[in-house]
Amino acid sequence: MATTDYDILIVGGGIYGCGIAQAASACGYRCLLIEQNTLASGTSSQSTKLIHGGLRYLEQFNLKLVYEALSERERLLQLAPELVSRQWFYIPIYQGNKRPPWMVACGLLLYFILSGGRSRFKWLPRSQWENTLPALNTSHLRAILAYEDAATDDAALTRAVAASARSLGCNIRENCALEHAEYDKNQWNVRLSTGDSLSAKILVNAAGPWVNTVHQCITPSPACIDIQLVQGSHLLLNRPCPGYVYTESLDGRVMFFRPWKGQTLAGTTETPLQDPPLNINPTASEICDILTTYNHYFPSTACDAHDIVRSFCGMRVLPQTHGSAFGASRETIMLCNPFGQAPYLAVYGGKLTTYRSESEKAVQLLKSFMPPPHKGSTRNMILSEHA
Ligand SMILES: Cc1cc2nc3c(=O)[nH]c(=O)nc-3n(C[C@H](O)[C@H](O)[C@H](O)COP(=O)(O)OP(=O)(O)OC[C@H]3O[C@@H](n4cnc5c(N)ncnc54)[C@H](O)[C@@H]3O)c2cc1C
Repeated sequence: MATTDYDILIVGGGIYGCGIAQAASACGYRCLLIEQNTLASGTSSQSTKLIHGGLRYLEQFNLKLVYEALSERERLLQLAPELVSRQWFYIPIYQGNKRPPWMVACGLLLYFILSGGRSRFKWLPRSQWENTLPALNTSHLRAILAYEDAATDDAALTRAVAASARSLGCNIRENCALEHAEYDKNQWNVRLSTGDSLSAKILVNAAGPWVNTVHQCITPSPACIDIQLVQGSHLLLNRPCPGYVYTESLDGRVMFFRPWKGQTLAGTTETPLQDPPLNINPTASEICDILTTYNHYFPSTACDAHDIVRSFCGMRVLPQTHGSAFGASRETIMLCNPFGQAPYLAVYGGKLTTYRSESEKAVQLLKSFMPPPHKGSTRNMILSEHA
């Protein structure tokens, strides 16, 4: 490729880069997506793999985020039935828990309303505790509440979105990093790690935790925001998992236990990081935190370090705040240059669940730089693992 022109160059092959590539290609833009490693090799394969409204955001009164995420959950259940499935989740509540059963039930009622009645919930009768969640610690257990949400395979979902983008004409190159992009009069002149050069009219930075690293390769330097990176670790434990269990870690943070490939996936943690490192691994204290929480809830199948089959970490991108990362906004932030300046958009943070609606919003912003060749939407585009 000596010199190739694209309408949009998208940097980053995570769920957001693929989502924007799909939404932009649906409108007829000629797109190139580049990924420095392989598709979904970043955060989009290292999440808890839930497609959910996020019960805990109710406590932050972020009803808009929960409502939008629940709407997208319903849409993804329809668009990607092979990849997103509705599940019952269980919340065991013990004596001394921060939130008593009635408070959790109120939250679930609000969740039910915000989902338009698509997140049913119930009190699990005591007679069903043993059968539903064998091995759960029932000492001082006051109640188990159950509610409906959804789960996915995050990497497979990302690949399915990429396949859809490709079928709409998007060019996707893996093992290809952005090295430098310079705006010159009316186009971006771009140098890639493969040695190729190309030009594009619009540049989209969807590099996830590396968003500000990519930002440093761009001239003239666009606006950016200060971020905090927070590592979240998961352990895959060699124990069969009885179901999707929503618990509190011993210091009061949310921790999920969920089935994953016949075993138990447990996580997550929140450990602040400085810059995005190339390789991250769970710290000793994260491993201890997850194992201690698992052993507290499932004492009869307790684990130690030998029972860890695999571990992985992802990095959350949160706006810089002075409080704890736990309370920082999980909403997607899009920074777009104003019309008249170099056509550039950067994506910060967000959830796997809302990637589709946020990608549509991103393309809406790009339309101010260049009108789309035609109308298009991803609202009804089926996603398949085997596309
Ligand atoms: C621990 C954890 C658990 C989570 N759990 C959930 C959940 O259960 N449900 C939910 O809805 N959300 C969840 N999230 C949020 C969700 O995973 C992320 O919002 C989403 O995956 C971010 O996708 P992304 O495309 O922005 O970033 P990424 O997936 O990280 O993609 C960015 C890509 O850019 C590439 N890149 C970087 N620099 C360059 C360059 N110079 N050139 C080319 N490519 C480059 C990287 O290799 C990477 O693949 C979780 C997040 C974390 C951290």
